[in-house]
Amino acid sequence: MDSALRAEYLRAIGIDLWVPRAAIAAAEPEPDPDPELRPPAPGPQGRDPGRVEHWEALREEVLRCTRCSLHAGRTQGVFGVGNPQAEWMVIGEAPGAEEDRRGEPFVGRAGQLLDAMLRAIGLSRAQNVYIANVLKSRPPNNRDPRPEEVAACLPYLRRQIELVRPRLLLAVGRIAAQNLLGTEESLSRLRGRVHRFGELNTPLVVTYHPAYLLRSPADKRKAWEDLKFARSVFRQLTAGSDDGHRS
Ligand code: URA
Repeated sequence: MDSALRAEYLRAIGIDLWVPRAAIAAAEPEPDPDPELRPPAPGPQGRDPGRVEHWEALREEVLRCTRCSLHAGRTQGVFGVGNPQAEWMVIGEAPGAEEDRRGEPFVGRAGQLLDAMLRAIGLSRAQNVYIANVLKSRPPNNRDPRPEEVAACLPYLRRQIELVRPRLLLAVGRIAAQNLLGTEESLSRLRGRVHRFGELNTPLVVTYHPAYLLRSPADKRKAWEDLKFARSVFRQLTAGSDDGHRS
């Protein structure tokens, strides 16, 4: 992506550009990713031939789901959005009011910021990222998900991840990160490291939730560091590999 375009996206995220970008790059190098990273590279043989059918069956199951009490108050289940063959997957917490109405994750103000953040690293839900939540149904009054709701819903997300087989997971916000990693560590301690998720050991990087960044814009610069870190991890994971992963 050319630097003028990136500058435009960073401005859209709300990151000040009065410091020359060259100086920022010199002062803030991208952090080194885990030196032990190895591409998961499942290759075409590792992909599920019935993937499309399984994906559609899973979507229908999620939309009909009554595993937890949230189904009673939702307008609809929110399965996910984006390219189901994407190499990046973004995981949020749960649908909010707007997502519940429209049936798509991250479509409110936080969603617009998420889109701008993703665009800054060359990603878009229309093309090369898949976006889903830990919970598929909206918790009332946007309260935090309860453990029993996460326990009921997480198997759906696990299955989505198995079918998409992304190279990299980006967990946005404390709730998504803690539930995916099964930890109570704070977001600040989880940032800047490469974690692993699930049986496929998919690399996972953590950053702030865009709704938090709307309330705390001073942390947008730290979120930008996280995005650059995620991008450098992704580049390392895919360096030199053209294994037909997306075929
Ligand atoms: N916040 C989330 O975590 N997910 C959404 O889909 C919307 C807001």
